Amino acid sequence: MSSVVRPRRWLAGPGHDCEPPPSTRRPCRLVLLGAPGVGKGTQAGLLSSRLGACQLSTGDVLRGAKRLAACDRSPAMELAIAAMSRGELVPDEVVLEIVRERVDCLRCHGGFLLDGFPRTIAQAEALDGMLAAEHLGLDAVVSYDLPIERIVARLSGRRVCPGCQAVYHVETQPPQTEGRCDRCGGPLVQRDDDRPDAVRVRMQTYEAATAPLLDYYVARALLVSVPADGTPEEILDRTLDALDTRAASRA
Ligand code: AMP
Repeated sequence: MSSVVRPRRWLAGPGHDCEPPPSTRRPCRLVLLGAPGVGKGTQAGLLSSRLGACQLSTGDVLRGAKRLAACDRSPAMELAIAAMSRGELVPDEVVLEIVRERVDCLRCHGGFLLDGFPRTIAQAEALDGMLAAEHLGLDAVVSYDLPIERIVARLSGRRVCPGCQAVYHVETQPPQTEGRCDRCGGPLVQRDDDRPDAVRVRMQTYEAATAPLLDYYVARALLVSVPADGTPEEILDRTLDALDTRAASRA
């Protein structure tokens, strides 16, 4: 299996070049939707390895801004970081500026997997405009579905390595040594927004701002729903089957 395509240009911003992505097949352009903690980021990584499309996560870009020294952060970044730590959405203008600066990534011949964007109707409309300007369309919007109590359990046990971004779960995917990353040995931490009070805000925000996107994409005949229970590999297989079924029905 090839490795996850996490483009440098997306993560570091304009002015940075990417390794040319593999271009062995028709580019796949997907949006991945789902409540926080549903496993969307894990699926984006697995799909990226399988499809050769770049994983474009707005959360990763915002977390990158959080790692900058305070003197290198703009006032808009400071506001975004504070909103993120509370579990709230970052204002649309800030997120859209991030995506517009990286519009080259939407044109990438490897295709893309948008992970965590769009999250509001205004963002979805702006994405439609950016894609139309590039004469591009989405192949599908995958919605990962899981009951809320399972999501809360996943989020509260999640631990991440700030050094290499590896993700663990204290019960279902623990590291070999408690609190240490298997990959780089760094200390594991709980993300600020995985703490219980922030999780509650994120769930309410998802219901109010992001769940309406499901109807938005149903109306455009793009939505593919995938149950998000089981192992990451089972969910991946289900996703690929659902995408194949959709492609076959449209051929
Ligand atoms: P994620 O890793 O996708 O769960 O994103 C982590 C946090 O980053 C979210 O809880 C938001 O605060 C912020 N964020 C990421 N993407 C967006 C977006 N498209 N719109 C608004 N806020 C976002």
